[in-house]
Amino acid sequence: MKISEQPINKILISSCFLGERVRYNGVVKPLVNKLLQQWQKQGRLISICPEVISGLPVPRPPAEIDPNTKQVITIESIDVTEQFDKGAKIALHLCQQHNIQLALLKESSPSCGSNTIYDGTFSQKKIIGEGVTTKLLRVHGIKVFSEASIEELAAQIDK
Ligand code: SF4
Repeated sequence: MKISEQPINKILISSCFLGERVRYNGVVKPLVNKLLQQWQKQGRLISICPEVISGLPVPRPPAEIDPNTKQVITIESIDVTEQFDKGAKIALHLCQQHNIQLALLKESSPSCGSNTIYDGTFSQKKIIGEGVTTKLLRVHGIKVFSEASIEELAAQIDK
């Protein structure tokens, strides 16, 4: 079913997809995709990096969610759960401000992952799960898609 009650459906997007220097390692890695270019021209995209908006620096130590405690812990064993929760709340607030019901977030990130996350051992192993921001957005009814499901997201919006 298409969401058509709004004049233009805005989409929350991970800032790193737009080539912003926000990733933990400081490497710029934009998502190159025609749909994204189209949505950007249409003014649909509202960008956020939940980790940077919470005050974490670039670069920053990688962090993963402990699957047992659900705490977010850096590779240096620092608990950054509070910052991740703060970033998620700011992302939710942004969605509420702009009446956003759809999000395109980077897969496997401890904030933005929507199907998988790393397993908490910093060994590049992934498990089924969702990032802190994705989880909060979904609790509030926002549909979260990844770069792998961008076509499904496109099917949800007015062309
Ligand atoms: S927190 Fe999300 S937006 Fe920020 S760098 Fe990681 S994946 Fe990209």
